[in-house]
Amino acid sequence: MKHIVIVATGGTIAGIGEKGKTVAYHAGEISIDDILVSIPNVKNVAELEIVQFMNVDSNEMNIDTWIALSNTINDIIIRDDVDGIVVTHGTDTIEETAYFLNLTIGSNKPIVLTGAMRPATATSADGPYNLYQAIALAANEEAVGQGVMVLFSNTIYSGRDIQKVNNYKIDAFDQKSFGCLGYMQDEKAYFFSKTFKTHTYLSRFAGKLDVLANVAIAYYYAGADSDILKYLSQHHQGIIIVGSGNGNYSKEWMRMINYCYEEYGTIFVRASRVPLGIVFSDHVFDPNEYCIASNTLSGQKARILLSLALSKTKDIQEIKEVFNQY
Ligand code: ASP
Repeated sequence: MKHIVIVATGGTIAGIGEKGKTVAYHAGEISIDDILVSIPNVKNVAELEIVQFMNVDSNEMNIDTWIALSNTINDIIIRDDVDGIVVTHGTDTIEETAYFLNLTIGSNKPIVLTGAMRPATATSADGPYNLYQAIALAANEEAVGQGVMVLFSNTIYSGRDIQKVNNYKIDAFDQKSFGCLGYMQDEKAYFFSKTFKTHTYLSRFAGKLDVLANVAIAYYYAGADSDILKYLSQHHQGIIIVGSGNGNYSKEWMRMINYCYEEYGTIFVRASRVPLGIVFSDHVFDPNEYCIASNTLSGQKARILLSLALSKTKDIQEIKEVFNQY
């Protein structure tokens, strides 16, 4: 039987509130052992080991907790007796943690994140079944080498592309234009696609982490004041612009980007506030080629990649390559 380690971090899956209700609950309250009690069949799927890493709402996650989590998982996953990892996590920032781990865990063993939209005390809580399927997926041979995945609502998503698209329904996730990696039927996994982007055991960012570069996000809207870019440049090494359309912005923002790049050496990435599509380099909005196109990454995922990239190099051409590859 496969040996799977559950690294629990909290979230709604470990949330409690008024019995039977789905609202006004507190995330990250009960232990993973208490959730496992409701899925006794899991003992036929894998042998389990529990690490209660933290127990918080996922809005408490940040670069420091990601580094600590990644270092912990890297230590566990190299053990010969470990076949895979499941990370329980809040849904609000699960897409960021999944992408961070996808870039920093140096192993091809399955790593599956999961969570819940309804607290453990709700009628028809979705957490126990998601956890059951996540454990089954982590124990599945076909999941080897697929990069970090997220299992939610019978669906297998890639850690690179998953995005929360609904803040209310239990089917809360999607992979934008790329559908999903596959589906699960109880403990059986059915894979249909895979990501072509570099991840986990092939990633240049895999391994022990220390400190990472400080990267901010600036959201563009019609009439947005460009002074925000100057302020952020004084406190950050990189800025992700979540622009309109193809990562666009006003002429005033363009002038300020040029100024901040030349004055402070700020590295800019253009992402888009539009959920679907791809951001390419653009000579109209970025004639000096000071901005890196985010490709299909959302602003919050581009921030993670730029933060890791800046910890290796300040060379804008090299960082452009990173954004094409990851
Ligand atoms: N606020 C919760 C969290 O992210 C939401 C959830 O888990 O669904 O921890």
